[in-house]
Amino acid sequence: MDNKDFRQQAHLLVDWMADYLENIEQFPVKSKVKPYEIYQQLPEQMPEQGENFAHIMEDFQQLLLPGMTHWQHPNFHAYFPANSSYPSILGEMLTATLGAQCMIWDTSPAAAELEERVMNWLKTAFHLPETWEGVLQDTASTATLTALLSAREQATHFQSNKKGLQKAHWRVYCSTETHSSIEKGVKIIGLGKDNLVKIPTTGHGCMDPQALEEAIQTDLAAGLQPMCVVAALGTTGTTAVDPLAPIAAICQEHHIWLHLDAAFAGVALLLPEYHYLLQGIEQVDSFVTNAHKWLFTNFDCSLYYVKDKEALLKTFEILPEYLKTSSRGAVNDYRDWGVPLGRRFRALKLWFVLRTYGLEGLQTRLRAHIQLAQTFAQWIEEAPDFECLAPVEFSLVCFRYKPLGTWTEEQLEAQNKELLDLLNQSGEVYLTHTKIRGQYALRLVTAQTYVQLHHVEKAWNLIQHYARKKQQVE
Ligand SMILES: *Cc1c(COP(=O)(O)O)cnc(C)c1O
Repeated sequence: MDNKDFRQQAHLLVDWMADYLENIEQFPVKSKVKPYEIYQQLPEQMPEQGENFAHIMEDFQQLLLPGMTHWQHPNFHAYFPANSSYPSILGEMLTATLGAQCMIWDTSPAAAELEERVMNWLKTAFHLPETWEGVLQDTASTATLTALLSAREQATHFQSNKKGLQKAHWRVYCSTETHSSIEKGVKIIGLGKDNLVKIPTTGHGCMDPQALEEAIQTDLAAGLQPMCVVAALGTTGTTAVDPLAPIAAICQEHHIWLHLDAAFAGVALLLPEYHYLLQGIEQVDSFVTNAHKWLFTNFDCSLYYVKDKEALLKTFEILPEYLKTSSRGAVNDYRDWGVPLGRRFRALKLWFVLRTYGLEGLQTRLRAHIQLAQTFAQWIEEAPDFECLAPVEFSLVCFRYKPLGTWTEEQLEAQNKELLDLLNQSGEVYLTHTKIRGQYALRLVTAQTYVQLHHVEKAWNLIQHYARKKQQVE
């Protein structure tokens, strides 16, 4: 492929991209292929001779597209979204074209400085403390790992980086509802998952600060050392919010690193009506939220903020001769701010998104999504045979079908499982599930970039249709 071919194919491709997004609702939102159906259609050997682009593109459409789940489909209500948007896609195209590896300032000053600027924009827009500093990471999992490593280094006076962990007495705390990435991180940093203490929750899945204090006291009495608490602003199951102020006070008292995992819901801090959630934020040591979930920016783009930049740098800094530059110290070399050396130019797509929407545009979209969740929850509440299982904090509704009559939990679980299967097999909508206090709940997220009221209406009609049709048959 030469430059002339590239130009020609790129023009065609952009048309394909616009057509795809325009007609995305014609695809089944969740792929219907069977395991290995795609794999078996792909040749066993790589091609000996190069093939032309048109041919590859044809195979992409014929072979691969049926095996795609369409995350940008407005009836994607599963998990949390991985939103893209037009400006974000255009930004990604430029990033791919520049193909820059932005490990240090010298390898692309614009990338480092744009990253610093957009992270500062968002820090202000989120109402986070002005003295904090931010860096882009690939995912919230990596950001949380980064936080755990910093916490470990601070707790061991930066000795574990040097000598390795001398004693296995460090303890990390999170609630029973926190994301699996915390456990993964605790395993990776060498503490062992038995040293992750899962604190019980109260009410609607929020960490019980009293139980946290008790767990810490028990550990201290047993000669164990509390190292880090991970609180959630928006749990994955139900978007429950751990009570930050009392947790922060406990961490302050015992000198424990406090990491706030706001991977999905953190972007709601762009709305002043959520600023009350920030009570206690000054005592937080690190914070993560994903632009690649609810902020219209293509995966991956995770926003990581720290109170103490030095603790971060001291944890990750390594300086081989070939990476020494004259600008060192005067600028941000982001390779020292996390795990990988090499870094994509992620700030570019984010900059396109922030400028295209503007703060007001983002606020309008977020509020519209939250309103959709509230509307859907109201329909659930008004239906005699459905119930909400958690309060709607943001743009997620947890609910279940509960027909009139008496049912055991097992029967309700079986019915709702079957309902979920029917919905997802229909290709019209995609939802996922969770368990809330042992009860099987369906999750419907209204945070996809292109979702509108009529999509949520469609989902609600399908949910009622499949639930009640089943009921008639039984
Ligand atoms: C999605 C999510 C994560 C993980 O995010 P990645 O960016 O995929 O690593 C972590 N915590 C919470 C609360 C989440 O919702």
